[in-house]
Amino acid sequence: MPTIFSKIISGEIPADIVYQDEQVLAFRDIAPQAPTHILIIPKEEIATANDLTEQHEPLIGHLVLVAARIAQQLGIAQGGYRLVMNCNRDGGQEVYHLHLHLLGGRKLAWPPG
Ligand code: AMP
Repeated sequence: MPTIFSKIISGEIPADIVYQDEQVLAFRDIAPQAPTHILIIPKEEIATANDLTEQHEPLIGHLVLVAARIAQQLGIAQGGYRLVMNCNRDGGQEVYHLHLHLLGGRKLAWPPG
């Protein structure tokens, strides 16, 4: 099922894009939970982490590397950051298009709520 993120990929709705290539797109979260809050998504429609298969290994590796590079570029790598992938109801997933949250710019609490 296409989600709002598919519309961001197609350009149908705007987003504050910070990076993109053939495989992934990264943009600022509309409701930031930290001074820096970026979503990194695959352009391929994958609903949840449960839908990943072996064929997605390089894509997911790329997703994480892109997140780390963005953290460097936005100046939060040294201080630290958190990468989060919520899955399904108990994980707090709201948009069913796989995405990695990159959160930083403040001290993040642990454990998460
Ligand atoms: P999750 O709860 O892990 O599914 O995260 C979905 C995230 O998408 C939330 O942090 C939302 O604030 C964010 N979000 C929803 N719609 C948009 C949008 N149009 N542009 C940017 N971020 C969005």
